[in-house]
Amino acid sequence: MRAKLIIHGGFFSESLTNQEIKLAKQEALSEIVQKSYIHLKTHTALQTSVFAVSLLEDCPLFNAGLGSQIQSDGKIRLSASLMDGKSQKFSGVINIEDVKNAIQVAEKLMCEEDRVLSGSGAHEYARQNGFEHFNPETAQRRKEYEEKLSASIGLGTVGCVALDNDGNIAAATSTGGKGFEIPGRVSDSATVAGNFANGYAGISCTGVGEDIVSAGLSVKIVTRVTDGMSLQKACRKSFEEMKSYDGFAGIIGIRSDGEMYHCDSHPYMVWASYDKQLSVFV
Ligand code: ASP
Repeated sequence: MRAKLIIHGGFFSESLTNQEIKLAKQEALSEIVQKSYIHLKTHTALQTSVFAVSLLEDCPLFNAGLGSQIQSDGKIRLSASLMDGKSQKFSGVINIEDVKNAIQVAEKLMCEEDRVLSGSGAHEYARQNGFEHFNPETAQRRKEYEEKLSASIGLGTVGCVALDNDGNIAAATSTGGKGFEIPGRVSDSATVAGNFANGYAGISCTGVGEDIVSAGLSVKIVTRVTDGMSLQKACRKSFEEMKSYDGFAGIIGIRSDGEMYHCDSHPYMVWASYDKQLSVFV
């Protein structure tokens, strides 16, 4: 089995992306996918998807971790989830505040009985487990918030799907949300609609959380692949079904036979993959 890796950096925003940002995103995605692919050679799909998403969270160009969107009350709340296709375990945090890498809190929760925590419970758990206080706000996001631009742009979640040398698949997704949301709003990113994997396939989504949840998108695509469809066909059929409500979503995925696929309902999700050679789209 040859290892495969695909990552995404959410949707490209014409209104916010000048040539300089575009090139910076391209460079960041290329570097992160290559570093993560090297990591995948000696680590599992699960460990690598956390590694890749942590790097994406640390890059202020993307809406996850450092540089996350600010919610309508001026606070940043992060959501992230992880799914191990081998053990079929899902873990996640919803609307956690003041941590650097929400995906690493999700990783820690993998070995707990209670594996999805929200709000203050997630925050408390992170503190008890050594995650230090970290404010993910950047001057750029504050500026956008103050200009109330976020209401119209906001999409830029990050994610990774990895297939390791032993044939195991994992998916990880992390977001700062859609920007300007009502505090308490739950994103798709820490649900099985936004992030799912089993022994057959793994999917990470970005886009409008409400549309992704309405479609049950990740779990639906993975179920179709499990029942024998190719990844491409499963994605196309599932995206077709979102057309009736103009669902806004993008996905990256890998099937256990090595098929990699990405698609989006609206232009353009930014992504990168590594499989012998590098592909980047920004
Ligand atoms: N899916 C995320 C959310 O709705 C946003 C995004 O993907 O950019 O919270």
